[in-house]
Amino acid sequence: MSTPSRVRRPRPARGAPSSRLILMINQTLYEIRPLACDPTIAEKAYRLDKEDGSVYDVSQTPHGPLCDCPDFVFRRDGLDPSGCKHVKALLAHGLIEGHRADVAAARG
Ligand SMILES: [Zn+2]
Repeated sequence: MSTPSRVRRPRPARGAPSSRLILMINQTLYEIRPLACDPTIAEKAYRLDKEDGSVYDVSQTPHGPLCDCPDFVFRRDGLDPSGCKHVKALLAHGLIEGHRADVAAARG
């Protein structure tokens, strides 16, 4: 007697449930994954994988949040402290923190 073989997905290690963090920003889904980062450069960092294959990295630095998307790089960095939609979404959900009070005070 033979039975058809099934492809089985590897199970996560015991105690580590399989989970994914999905965030919707303006009707677009992103998978959010934490990134390892050098603590002297960034306190936290996340990779946002967009449905279309685009990938953006958002980090929380002592100088405020940063994103490597074109909107942040060309229109927000140093100009708009509220940041791009990715920064705003991660701030809204508590994944990163905004500018520190001392940074804001230094800018006047
Ligand atoms: Zn962005």
